[in-house]
Amino acid sequence: MAMRAVATLEKAELETVEASETENAESTLDDLTVCLPGVSEQFAAAMGKGLGIHTVGDLLRHYPRRYEDRTHFKPICDIRHGESVTISGKVINVENIPTRTRVTLTKVAVDDRSGIAFLVFFNQWYLKKQFDKLRGQTIVVYGKASRSGRGGLDMTEVEWEAVEEDKDALSSGRIVPVYPLTEGVLQARLRRAAWSALDLYGYLVEETLPPGILVKRDLPGLEDSFRQMHFPESDEARMAAQRRFVFDEFFSLQLLLAVRKRQSDKAVGTAFGDTVGPVEELKAVLPYPLTAAQARVITELAADMGSKKSMNRLVQGDVGAGKTVVAMAALMIAVRSGYQAALMAPTEILAEQHYLGIRRTMESLGIKVTLLSGSLPAKEKRAALAAVASGETHIAVGTHALIQTDVQFHKLGLGVVDEQHRFGVLQRAALKSKGDSPDLLVMTATPIPRTLTLTVYGDLDVSIIDQLPPGRKPIKTHWKRGHERQSVYETLRNLLKQGRQAYVICSLIEENEKLQARAATELCAHLQADVFPEYKIGLLHGQMKPTEKEGTMTRFRDRELQMLVSTTVIEVGVDVPNASVIVIEDADRFGMAQLHQLRGRVGRGETQSYCLLIGDPKTDDGASRLATMAQTTDGFLIAEEDLKLRGPGDFYGTRQSGLQPLPFVDVVRDVPVLKEAREEAFCLLEADPKLLRPEHAALKAIVRSKHKTAAGMSAS
Ligand code: ADP
Ligand code: MG
Repeated sequence: MAMRAVATLEKAELETVEASETENAESTLDDLTVCLPGVSEQFAAAMGKGLGIHTVGDLLRHYPRRYEDRTHFKPICDIRHGESVTISGKVINVENIPTRTRVTLTKVAVDDRSGIAFLVFFNQWYLKKQFDKLRGQTIVVYGKASRSGRGGLDMTEVEWEAVEEDKDALSSGRIVPVYPLTEGVLQARLRRAAWSALDLYGYLVEETLPPGILVKRDLPGLEDSFRQMHFPESDEARMAAQRRFVFDEFFSLQLLLAVRKRQSDKAVGTAFGDTVGPVEELKAVLPYPLTAAQARVITELAADMGSKKSMNRLVQGDVGAGKTVVAMAALMIAVRSGYQAALMAPTEILAEQHYLGIRRTMESLGIKVTLLSGSLPAKEKRAALAAVASGETHIAVGTHALIQTDVQFHKLGLGVVDEQHRFGVLQRAALKSKGDSPDLLVMTATPIPRTLTLTVYGDLDVSIIDQLPPGRKPIKTHWKRGHERQSVYETLRNLLKQGRQAYVICSLIEENEKLQARAATELCAHLQADVFPEYKIGLLHGQMKPTEKEGTMTRFRDRELQMLVSTTVIEVGVDVPNASVIVIEDADRFGMAQLHQLRGRVGRGETQSYCLLIGDPKTDDGASRLATMAQTTDGFLIAEEDLKLRGPGDFYGTRQSGLQPLPFVDVVRDVPVLKEAREEAFCLLEADPKLLRPEHAALKAIVRSKHKTAAGMSAS
């Protein structure tokens, strides 16, 4: 069902870019196999197998991992301790030296006439044979220098390469590319292959960007960019080329998002009749006034809902900012216009909490709310499904269960997805398919920095709740070492004495729910028996039955339990305002975004809240993460720091976006390029909505293939 939903959606989107004219029949770089001078069949096979390089195009897109400036080699006599340097000299001696610790040292003496350096390898005795063959020959070496006490120069972590004098001008006297390698592919040969590819077929590189954009954004042409990436004339030229490729990467993604956005902007949705009255009705039953930020965001979504165009809006707000109420306003508007609405949450605990909260608030207004979760007993589930199908239910709240095939709505006008970062594009689309192009509202708690919202959610309109409800005291966070655990427990005991409730999160065991459950069970038993016998402690983990989980949550909410020992199952959304302390064991194992989410479970009421992180980080980065957590409660800042520390490799949401960053894209540094690319993409599509102009043909092909990749990902 879900798959079908996506297929339909994609088809509609594709029609916009699907060509009516025929495909360019000329051969391109991607049709040419790597039959190049100096590339033997065997070598070609090795490149194909190990590096996925099959065509000339693949070869050109196999970018260097780094570069070595071999325009000047450093004389050995000038090298200082600790420097990373490139030298060039003759191999004059090779020795294998056994040591007392059974490590074999291989020492290779290299002479450049200014001095002698020793390349040092550990336990690679077989290298002796290779170097023996090179005696008397010149090699180029890149590595880290260390001066030993006696004045000798050792080089470790070395990369080296023989220079075939005269023949191989590619490997010396210039800025030299260093490629990622694989078995059977030698650096110098790969370099030669890349050179030949550019030399023979460079002219076939087709420019993809319109000239106007190149000029306006000061970008080098594509052919030149390939040349500069592989064999840079200067660092500046290489940086310009790199920026060009980063731009391309963002540009094609933004173009795809622009296509989607155009499509959804055009899609005729539901125009809800009254978008003011229902919100007033809700406000009247809320125990508190809305914050200015909540009110503003509600106005923004009400404008979408009142218009004929279909709403696709993302509401972003830090943990505790009060997104639920904003969702309720949207639900009210839909219901009062005679439509049904659905709210989907990522976990059973969260779905149940939303169900209870929404029912508590809206039942008095005559609105019927139904819970649909995977764990309902068959009989209740049947009843729930019937109530949803008949239209008796106004609001269905649930987990993934909401998008199963057996769920049919009578008249779905609005879908809300909470904690969107936990869902994929697929589920978003599947929820939409439950109605006749219903409006869509997705909510997320800043899993990514503001600046990146554009990349990942570029096809949505964005509203930001940038203000916390009044009276909140910033959570005080302390980082303690493992040996200080007893004092943490004493602090905890003092707070419990004052009637506070606490969470204790047990350490993260990657990917193994069973072990995780066991750890939590043990921790709970230990705390109950040995540390806090005077208090009632509950347990929560992913292996418990949903009814057990709900039971525990209810007892905690009703203050029967003073403490809750839990795995990360409480990470998202759980809201118990009287819980004002959270202790996180082995905090160094968690990512910052996750710590922030966990910490967000407290600080939801007006009392001072505390977050106590226990951790003995083993790396500087780990220490820096915990220190940052202790310093700031700003979710945006934390997301940004997290990204800097972890790198762009795996931040939340990239996979869902269809963005597969180039190895050298730095999503923090390159944000300005992203913005430019986005402007140009939307501007271009404005002028040529179907990409029909001949100068946009290449772009159209790229967008289409990106689209297929993204579709493939969401379907998997
Ligand atoms: P989020 O989902 O954004 O993390 P919630 O919607 O769970 O946050 O709200 C967090 C807490 O703040 C809840 O206990 C909620 O009742 C409370 N709250 C929300 N809006 C307001 C407001 N305007 N004034 C006071 N308290 C509020
Ligand atoms: Mg929430």
